Amino acid sequence: MRIDLHTHSTASDGTDTPTELVRQANAAGLDVVALTDHDTAAGWAEAAAALPADLALVTGTEFSCAWFGANGARIGLHLLGYLYDPDNAELQSERHRLRESRRGRGQAIVNNLRVDGIPIRWERVSELAGDGTVGRPHIGQALVEAGVVGSVDEAFANLLSSRSKYYVRKADMDVFVALRLINAARGVTAFAHPLARRRGTVVADEVIAEMAAAGLDGIEVDHPDHSLADRAHLSGVAADLGLIPLGSSDYHGRNKAVRLGACTTSPEAYAALLARNTASSPIVFAT
Ligand code: AMP
Ligand code: FE
Ligand code: FE
Ligand code: ZN
Repeated sequence: MRIDLHTHSTASDGTDTPTELVRQANAAGLDVVALTDHDTAAGWAEAAAALPADLALVTGTEFSCAWFGANGARIGLHLLGYLYDPDNAELQSERHRLRESRRGRGQAIVNNLRVDGIPIRWERVSELAGDGTVGRPHIGQALVEAGVVGSVDEAFANLLSSRSKYYVRKADMDVFVALRLINAARGVTAFAHPLARRRGTVVADEVIAEMAAAGLDGIEVDHPDHSLADRAHLSGVAADLGLIPLGSSDYHGRNKAVRLGACTTSPEAYAALLARNTASSPIVFAT
C-alpha cells in the first residue's frame, strides 16, 4: 500500500486541479491520497467526483496555526485535520476567517514589493489564485511571470521568505483552539512538518508534548523538508508520546519540485489513523 497524506491542489496553492491531482496520484501508483489544501475543504467534492477506481481519498485541511509562548513568543505552524465534519459551524467560520485574512495579507506583501519598484500586480496574483486560498506561491508565480525571478523557489529564497522585509504575517488559529475545534468536529489531527527549519523557527519538543496532551493524534516524521537526523528524532518523539508517525510528500504540483509519494505513510500508521472516531471515512470509487 502506498499512502500519501498531504497534498495541495488549485483549491489552495497547488497547480493541479483536484481532478488532475487524483489522476496523478493514481498514475504515481498511490492507493491512498489525502487532499489537504490550506484553510479550505473546497477541493474535496471535485476530487471525490473524479476519483479513479483503485484510489481512496482522505479528506483533509491544513490549518494555519500558531503556538503562543511566554513573553510574547509566537511560532507559526501547520496542523492537519483529517476526516472531520466540514459542516461544523465553528471550524467553518475559522476556515473562512483564515482565508479572508490571506487575501489582505497577500495584497500587503504585493504593496511592499511595489513600493520598492518591483513590477507586480495584485490583480494578477488574485487571478492566479482563482477561487483557491491565496498563498505566497501565487505571488511567486506572478514574480516569475514578471521576470523578477527565475522560479517560485528563487522567490521564496529571498523576496517571499518569512525573514524578508516584504513579509507580512497571516492570521492564524491558536494551535490549542484548533486541536479542540478539529476534535469537536470529529477529525484526526496531525502536526505538519514540525521541523521544517528553512521556513522559520520550529517548536521545541516540549510544545509537541503539550499538543499531544491536548489531543494531537499524529505527527509528520517523513517529510521532504526534514533532514534524516530530524526524521530519526521525530520518530522517537512519536514513540515516546504515542503519536501516529506519518509520512507525506506535501505535493504542490509545479509550485514545488517534490513528486507525489516522495514520502509515504506505513499501512500500520494509516490503520491507526482510521481506528480513531471520525466524522467520515475515506472516499472510494462508487460503482
Ligand atoms: P503562505 O501559506 O502564503 O504563508 O505560503 C507558504 C506556502 O508556500 C506553504 O504552503 C509552502 O508549502 C509553500 N512554499 C514554501 N516554500 C516554498 C518554495 N521554496 N517553493 C514553493 N512553495 C513554497
Ligand atoms: Fe502550501
Ligand atoms: Fe504546510
Ligand atoms: Zn502543505
